[in-house]
Amino acid sequence: MTFEKLALVGTGMIGGSLALALRQAGRARRIVGYDRAAAALERARALGIVDEGAASAADAAAGADLVVLAVPVGATESVCRALAPGLGRAVLVTDVGSTKVEVLAAVERALPFPERFVGAHPIAGTERSGPEAATATLFRGRRCLLTPTAATLPSAREACAALWEAVGARVEVLDAAAHDQALALVSHLPHAAAFALAAAIGDAAGAGAPVAGLWGGGFVDTTRIAGSDPEMWRDIFLSNRDAVAAALARLGRELDALGRAIADGDGAALEALIARARTGRRRILEGER
Ligand code: NAP
Repeated sequence: MTFEKLALVGTGMIGGSLALALRQAGRARRIVGYDRAAAALERARALGIVDEGAASAADAAAGADLVVLAVPVGATESVCRALAPGLGRAVLVTDVGSTKVEVLAAVERALPFPERFVGAHPIAGTERSGPEAATATLFRGRRCLLTPTAATLPSAREACAALWEAVGARVEVLDAAAHDQALALVSHLPHAAAFALAAAIGDAAGAGAPVAGLWGGGFVDTTRIAGSDPEMWRDIFLSNRDAVAAALARLGRELDALGRAIADGDGAALEALIARARTGRRRILEGER
């Protein structure tokens, strides 16, 4: 299926990548963008991500057969309200947000026909943001998680799956609550840990710890994602707070155990914890039991 007009609300890295990829796949004839940041919208136009910029979300949505929300998840409800007056009845609305339960609730409250909305979360991206970070190949071979509800129109669900497959993603369908629980562990917790780690080390350096030029792979590998956008991650944590809080409590128990073993000089406990960490990492990455 080729969409005649794609309305892209939020012309940053993920939205921009989807627009580039859909255009490259021949699935979007005209792309109209709207972004709260006029400069980001203008850069998206200059980079060929959108054909034109609209003055409002409703203007972008007018006459569109596909609307993609690619804004921080906390903006979902206000953006849906803003674009609702422009929406036609034959539209597919989807998003790329990193959490799903609150996004679906916001859509339910704010869209005139939520049965045409299909929640989507591509498991792809980097710590960068803005249209300059967009690439047409970002989703190739990556998972895209769809969270339709019982009310979602089957035609909308199928069109959304086809859209993501067209840009090279492997589509999986799951329940929004299960999505948020799982992502709290494998995405939100690692980001929280990286933010805390980078803040602690950065503050120590700021207070005069002589670390200049002494950092290596350990620092770089564990803190890369701490370079992510603050507003985006504020919204993710707040919209999945119970699951993230539970995951952080789990991490806290591990840090306490590690701290105790180090303070006590307990080598056996340290080795056991590190061995459990290695096994746990392998279990996740290789799907071992
Ligand atoms: P991004 O590069 O910062 O792009 C977001 C764009 O939306 C920015 O231009 C931002 O403007 C704009 N925006 C913010 N609030 C808005 C509003 N109320 N109305 C219109 N435009 C608004 O961020 P991104 O990485 O593409 O993330 C977009 C979404 O994808 C988020 O929901 C995120 O959770 C999800 N996601 C991200 C990743 C990742 O790795 N980054 C992966 C999967 C999913 P400003 O420049 O003024 O902020």
